[in-house]
Amino acid sequence: MKNTTTLLLILFIWACHSKEQKQEIEKVKKNTTDKIAYGLVIHGGAGSQERGKYSDSLEQAYHQKLAEATEKGYALIEKGTPALDVVVATIEILENSPLFNAGKGAVFTHEENNQLDASIMDGATLEAGAVAGVKIVKNPIKAAQAVLQHSPHVLLSGNGADQFAISLGLDTVPNSYFFTPKNFNYLKKIKAKQKQQTAYQATTDEKFGTVGCAVLDKNGKLAAGTSTGGMTNKRYGRIGDSPIIGAGTYANDLVAVSCTGHGEYFIRYAVAYDLAAQIAYQGKSVKEASEFIIHQKLKQAGGQGGLISIDQNGNVSMPFNTSGMFRAVKTNNTELKTAIYKD
Ligand code: ASP
Repeated sequence: MKNTTTLLLILFIWACHSKEQKQEIEKVKKNTTDKIAYGLVIHGGAGSQERGKYSDSLEQAYHQKLAEATEKGYALIEKGTPALDVVVATIEILENSPLFNAGKGAVFTHEENNQLDASIMDGATLEAGAVAGVKIVKNPIKAAQAVLQHSPHVLLSGNGADQFAISLGLDTVPNSYFFTPKNFNYLKKIKAKQKQQTAYQATTDEKFGTVGCAVLDKNGKLAAGTSTGGMTNKRYGRIGDSPIIGAGTYANDLVAVSCTGHGEYFIRYAVAYDLAAQIAYQGKSVKEASEFIIHQKLKQAGGQGGLISIDQNGNVSMPFNTSGMFRAVKTNNTELKTAIYKD
């Protein structure tokens, strides 16, 4: 009898123990799942977007395109696509739309043609690729990725970059493909205005519209990319921040960032790298660091623009000091959100 009681007691203790163990394992599993963060954030340029500026249908079109690109990127992330490829696929959608100042919707140079810039960076490897001043590459972000993957260089420019894209069989188009009446008329308007001025000026008035994307994939890898037509009336081969790694684009194992705005300021303030540096060396959150840069450093200097960023834990920040910024986000913790104006 005594033996049976002892045996039952042992069995009881073992059952309780294994139940506790199971609960513990479930708890750890849940925590691990909760901790896996992934998602993306995109922009379609910061600038003079003010309520009432766009017709309802145009406003709708912007929201739809931002949503389409974000959903596409998110679906790829869910499938396990690496961050770098997600950046390219997402930006390609924005480049193919005339709505944004990148790819098809690129603004005009003073010489009345279109010259496009793009860059991409892989946060896991610190590999980067960029093109500047390309004229016939349909999707400059793909050319930037090709530089990263198939050349020993980081930045190719002008005809050489176009030739490189051709040599790899990327899609090319005549420069006239980038013609849009809206952008051409805007150039004409700016030129007329500047006849009275003696000094050459590219304009930052309205035509911010660069696109960008920052991704945290399911394996915790980060990547960012940016693509633009630059600034209306740009001249003398002017290149902005978008194809400059550390200025318009940056990614490492802590954060991925893409910028938009008055490029000269973003270059001089090394904005994209500054964000990563403040997180790494000052222990700031992505929100603290990006808001400090955009709302204090740049604003005090007179630099207009914004940025989008995502950190290794899926925290997102998208500050801008202009009246608006086309932007969208979706993570495994945040529903799709598209926005144009200040909240
Ligand atoms: N940053 C781009 C440039 O300066 C312009 C923009 O973001 O709209 O070329």
